[in-house]
Amino acid sequence: NAAQQGSNAVYFYQTGEDEAYLERLLIIDELKAALQSDDGQLFMTYQPKLNMHSQQVDKVESLIRWQRRNGEWVSPEFFIDLAEQSGLIVELTQWVLKTVVAQVANWVEQGITMKAAINVSAQDIADPDFVPHLEAMLDRYQISPSLITIELTERDMIENEEKGIAALKVLKEIGVHISLDDYGVGQTSLGRLKMLPIDELKLDKVFILKLAETHQDQCIVRSTISLGHQLGFSVVAEGVEDKASLELLKEMGCDYAQGYYLSKPLKAELLTQWLGQYHEAG
Ligand code: C2E
Ligand code: MG
Ligand code: MG
Ligand code: MG
Repeated sequence: NAAQQGSNAVYFYQTGEDEAYLERLLIIDELKAALQSDDGQLFMTYQPKLNMHSQQVDKVESLIRWQRRNGEWVSPEFFIDLAEQSGLIVELTQWVLKTVVAQVANWVEQGITMKAAINVSAQDIADPDFVPHLEAMLDRYQISPSLITIELTERDMIENEEKGIAALKVLKEIGVHISLDDYGVGQTSLGRLKMLPIDELKLDKVFILKLAETHQDQCIVRSTISLGHQLGFSVVAEGVEDKASLELLKEMGCDYAQGYYLSKPLKAELLTQWLGQYHEAG
C-alpha cells in the first residue's frame, strides 16, 4: 500500500489502488452534495410489477438513478455500496423515502392507487430513526402504510439481526409490507426463512433471466413459488425479459412479475403514461 510508503508522493498518485481510493472519496463527497442540494442529479425511477392474478399493474419498485454534473451515469450498485461504506446511506434512504411517498401521494391525487416498493439497507433498519421517519412521511402525505413495501436482501436482514428484525416487525404491525429481495442467492436457511417477518419473496433474477430455456431454473422457481405460498408469502419474479418466461411464471402460479419484457424503470411521468397505455391495450 502506497500510503504506508508515504515518502514517495509521485508513487502515491500513480498507484492504481490509491487512485481508486481517492476517486471513491471524491464520489462520496459529490453524492453528499447531490443529496443536500437536491438539484436533480439524483432522481427516482419506477418499474412496474405486474399482478399475475388481475393482469393489472398495481405495484412498482422504486430504483434510484444518479447522473453526475459532468453528465456521467453512476450505477446504483456502485454508489449504494459507497453510501453504505461511508454511512451516507441513512441520509440517502431518507431522501428516497420522502421522494417515493410524495410520488405515491401524487398518484393518489390523480386517482391512481399504486403500491410502491423501496429498497433499503441493513444500516437503515438498524437506525432508530428509520421507523419514526417513515411513519412521519406516511402521516405527512396521508398515505396508507399498506401502499409501501420495504425490500431488503437476505444479507441486509441478517446484518444487525436483532435490531433490524425488531424494526421490521414494527413496520409489519403498522401495515407496511416487507419483501425479501434477491431470494435464492444469499444464505438464508429454510429455518431462518420461516422466522423472518416478511410478506413477499422476490426471486433473484439469475433464476428468471433464462427461465424459459433452462430446466434447472424452472425446477428451482417452481418449487420456490410453492414453498413461498405454503409459508404464506406472495412470490415475485424479477428480471422477466421475454414472453415465454412470463407465461411460464403465470402457469407456475407466481404472483407478480417484473422485468424489461414489461418495462424498464421509468421516471414517474413516463410511468403514468405507460400505465395509461398498458391498461388501455388490455
Ligand atoms: P434490486 O433491488 O434487486 O433491483 C433490481 C435490479 O434489476 C434493478 O437494477 C433493475 O433495473 C434491474 N432489472 C429490472 N428488470 C430487469 C430485467 O428484465 N433484466 C435485467 N437484466 N435487469 C433488470 P438497478 O436499478 O441497476 O439497481 C441495482 C441495485 O441497486 C438494486 O437491486 C438495489 O439493490 C440497489 N438500489 C437501487 N435503487 C436503490 C435505492 O433507492 N436504495 C437502495 N438502498 N438501493 C437501491
Ligand atoms: Mg429490490
Ligand atoms: Mg432484486
Ligand atoms: Mg439486487
